[in-house]
Amino acid sequence: MSAAYDPDNIFAKILRGELPAHTVYEDAHTLAFMDVMPQGEGHTLVIPKAPSRGLLDAEPETLAALARSVQTVARAVKAAFEADGLTVFQFNEPASGQTVFHLHFHIIPRRDGVPLKR
Ligand code: 5GP
Repeated sequence: MSAAYDPDNIFAKILRGELPAHTVYEDAHTLAFMDVMPQGEGHTLVIPKAPSRGLLDAEPETLAALARSVQTVARAVKAAFEADGLTVFQFNEPASGQTVFHLHFHIIPRRDGVPLKR
């Protein structure tokens, strides 16, 4: 059993406009913004507006909207950074490496097999 959703997590504050973010995409159900500590140039995060802690507690409608946005943003990131490919991943709970407890997908463009230099 995972912990409850904390409405004061950093991404919830970004959604409420209480913290700044470099937003690159937004629709009714999702938001995408640049990672503040990128693993490479173009490292982008895509989150649902609905309050989900991770993949395991997300509603089906949330996941459907998020999947569409991940594809939209991935296509845009690939084109914008002239990447050969993309790594897309997400973590669930501290044991996996999750540090912000609002569901999010990482998108990291890659060229010649590695993330782009920052
Ligand atoms: P995870 O929870 O999947 O391990 O990663 C959370 C990600 O959020 C990290 O890549 C981290 O750099 C990013 N991050 C943490 N705090 C902020 C913030 O305030 N703004 C933005 N844009 N990204 C953040």
